[in-house]
Amino acid sequence: MNRKKRVLLLGATGSIGRQTLDVLKRHPDEFELAGISAGHNEEALHEIAGEFDGIQAASVLEGNESRWTVPLFTGPDHVQKLMDAVDYDILVNAVVGFAGLAPTLRALETGHDVALANKESLVAGGQLVKKALAASGKKLYPIDSEHSAIWQCLQGSRQKDVNRLIITASGGSFRDRTRQSLENATPQEALKHPNWAMGRRITIDSATMVNKGFEVIEAHYLFDIPFDRIETVLHPQSIVHSMVEFQDGAVMAQLGSADMRLPIQYALMGPDRPRLEEENRLDMTRTMTLEFREMDFDRFPILKTAYEAGRQGGSAGAVFNGADEEAVALFLAGKIPFLKIEDAIRYALKTVPFVADPDYGQLQECDRLAREAVRYGVSQDFRVE
Ligand code: NDP
Ligand code: MG
Repeated sequence: MNRKKRVLLLGATGSIGRQTLDVLKRHPDEFELAGISAGHNEEALHEIAGEFDGIQAASVLEGNESRWTVPLFTGPDHVQKLMDAVDYDILVNAVVGFAGLAPTLRALETGHDVALANKESLVAGGQLVKKALAASGKKLYPIDSEHSAIWQCLQGSRQKDVNRLIITASGGSFRDRTRQSLENATPQEALKHPNWAMGRRITIDSATMVNKGFEVIEAHYLFDIPFDRIETVLHPQSIVHSMVEFQDGAVMAQLGSADMRLPIQYALMGPDRPRLEEENRLDMTRTMTLEFREMDFDRFPILKTAYEAGRQGGSAGAVFNGADEEAVALFLAGKIPFLKIEDAIRYALKTVPFVADPDYGQLQECDRLAREAVRYGVSQDFRVE
């Protein structure tokens, strides 16, 4: 009998974390939840622990150890303590933000496969993650829907036959609004994504198109394709999750309803494709319209900045991400207007010193400096003297 695959799930209480738990529950004979971690929500984490057998340990920033029946790690380095304590086969990294980079590196360095939702690992630390992958010989499975789509389209193909990757973008909450109308856009409006229910940060990042910029950088590192062969296209229906164009002109696309459990399940089980629920299933036998529109770089100028940061490499991605994390938090707190998120990112990229070949400590410092630059830049209205 095959042993069950032991899954260590970071970010268990979040949007991807919950959907990962749903996938695991559907396949009790295949998977064991070996460990779980959250940021702040100890209550929800404790409830999750009660739903699964076999959990070896859990971790959260602050918590009450006395009510736990398994070891609970707390404190600023709780994730690291958990990763060192648990025996697991694959890490599912569903943490949001720069905080996800260290666990991705640690899992690879200690000889584990990683199923990656935390796109910031590749945006901020793509070069380091590639090195860790090469040194460990372990695998990185994409969970982000666009990258899962590309990965599915690439099955059975050869790298030399790939001409372009085409990443689809829904356009986010404000896809039908002009730039002028966004000056007074509120967090409540920005948090209403038309097609996907996701965590707050990525929902705002979808509205600014920062998320698509992240995904371009992510694709570059995952699939080893240069930036000038990674395109983006507006596709409001979010049915085509991304495409690969081959040298002979054939275009492969992966279609499906907007359900993150499919890419999560494929990351954990591919090439197996066990049944997911009947409801929400895409019915290609009925009339439907799929639209594709050229990406509008005037309407979404930050996407251009993301390409530039990606091409620059080094610390630029970490600065881009750190500035965005801070700016999104300021926007959600009502401290800066929506369109200033872009200014904040550009301000940080101009003011934080560039490092060409950063190690993890230097990336951490760049992340800190980017956040600091954004907080300071508010008082300067993000103008560089
Ligand atoms: P959520 O905000 O819903 O969840 C984030 C999770 O990370 C929570 O469990 C949270 O814990 C935990 N967390 C937050 N900060 C820390 C920290 N410093 N250390 C440890 N854990 C922490 O985010 P999503 O699930 O939406 O996104 C997770 C990742 O997946 C992001 O990188 C996102 O870009 C990516 N992604 C998400 C998609 C989606 O559909 N949601 C689609 C594609 C990619 P707690 O809440 O308890 O504080
Ligand atoms: Mg995505």
